[in-house]
Amino acid sequence: MTEYEPVIGLEVHAHLKTKSKAFCGCPTSFGAEPNTQVCPVCLGMPGVLPVVNKSMVAFAIKVGLALDCTISNTTKFDRKNYFYPDLPKGYQISQYDEPICKAGHITIKNKKIRVHRAHMEEDAGKLVHAGAAGLHGSDYSLVDYNRGGVPLLEIVSEPDITSPEEARLYLTELRNILRYIDVCDGNLEEGSFRCDANVSIRPVGTKELGTRTEIKNLNSFRAVQRAIQYEIERQTTLVESGEKVVQQTRLWNDGDGKTHPMRSKEEAHDYRYFPEPDLVPLVIDKVWIEELVKQMPELPEARRRRYVTELKLAPDDAYVLVESKEMSDFFDRAIKLGASAKETANWLIGPTQAYLKEQKLGFDELPLTPENVRDLATAVSRGTISNTAAKQVLSELLAKKSDVAALIEKLGLTQVSDEGDLRKAVSEVLAANPSQVAEFHQGRTKVRQFFFGEIMKGTKGKANPQVVNKLLDEILATAKI
Ligand code: ADP
Ligand code: MG
Ligand code: ZN
Repeated sequence: MTEYEPVIGLEVHAHLKTKSKAFCGCPTSFGAEPNTQVCPVCLGMPGVLPVVNKSMVAFAIKVGLALDCTISNTTKFDRKNYFYPDLPKGYQISQYDEPICKAGHITIKNKKIRVHRAHMEEDAGKLVHAGAAGLHGSDYSLVDYNRGGVPLLEIVSEPDITSPEEARLYLTELRNILRYIDVCDGNLEEGSFRCDANVSIRPVGTKELGTRTEIKNLNSFRAVQRAIQYEIERQTTLVESGEKVVQQTRLWNDGDGKTHPMRSKEEAHDYRYFPEPDLVPLVIDKVWIEELVKQMPELPEARRRRYVTELKLAPDDAYVLVESKEMSDFFDRAIKLGASAKETANWLIGPTQAYLKEQKLGFDELPLTPENVRDLATAVSRGTISNTAAKQVLSELLAKKSDVAALIEKLGLTQVSDEGDLRKAVSEVLAANPSQVAEFHQGRTKVRQFFFGEIMKGTKGKANPQVVNKLLDEILATAKI
């Protein structure tokens, strides 16, 4: 029987977080009262003229640089025509055949996914289907034009993705890159990072692409994965029973876990693209690009590499840290202050992440400071407290603002490392257990663990284990019976 493999291409619409809209001066902030962030330009009144927002272009170029794209010398805007109430002008200003960015890539776990292009466009307004009957069958709809004219960057991948899991990796990495360069907040729920997935299947080993469907309404990374998986299975069942996949736009329904046909796939000519006559083509100055290059921060991929090669973190740990820019920035600050990389990484990835999840908090809401972490790491490396005690101090620091030294004092966690004190504790335990000592010398070296346990118990866990081990060896070697 013929085996089929999936082919996936993703289109991402990312809100560029400029202060004002793409072609007018209206603000772009989310959540304002409906229709309070509008003007004659973004409402498409007759006689108005658009003006290009320079920040939008700068942000788009930065994305292009981060994705290793070619930045076009000249780029232009085009009108994409369609009629729908969310689009007051009857057309969207977009870019058709001369996008600002071309031919880049995103690396996910050593695989390169090519980025076909990225182009600027304006967002449409938002329809709210009101009425008693709800979304379907309601008798009227409301429209909010606050979102109309907000700048978007549409980032289109080549069909290089071959599994739902790869799609998720591509999206998380892309979102992370956009956050690192600070051009998009990547918030799926607020719709500032939206994804459409194109899916087809083909017999394994063949090159030709199969007929694709485009899935819309994907509101979470989980939805993307589930929808792609569902679509692969649906198409495979169709083809295996001798039917054909119809080129279509389909809607994902998170409730029933299925995709449903929405409309037959539109072609470019359906949109009657033509150059936007109200905007001149843009010539992108090389000097400007060079300035933007200088503003580029360290990107996730480079950061991961640095963590693994310079700081000797495990690749998986580097991955987890870099996934959150806030956590990774915090980590870098703590390291700069002199905290040990390994310990800091462990504390952040382990107890800190667990705490955030449990309390449903964001990293920026923590009272923990990089100085705290540095002090904690120093206390452990100096032997002032044990690793276990450090975790106890950390859990206090996560809950409220405090100071490491004060907490160690308050919780009575200071470790005993003084050889004189510990020598006494070790000798006492050995003296109290002569038969076990005899067993030890007859070769049952396992009882050493028993001595160790007794000593720790006797010191209420405050003895420095390294010093105890050293003294235990020393005294056992001399105290022949
Ligand atoms: P459209 O506007 O028609 O959706 P785009 O060029 O914006 O076209 O996006 C097409 C997307 O679909 C790209 O991500 C591309 O890689 C992907 N794609 C094209 N053909 C196929 C196919 N046969 N199977 C899967 N993905 C495809
Ligand atoms: Mg499309
Ligand atoms: Zn406006």
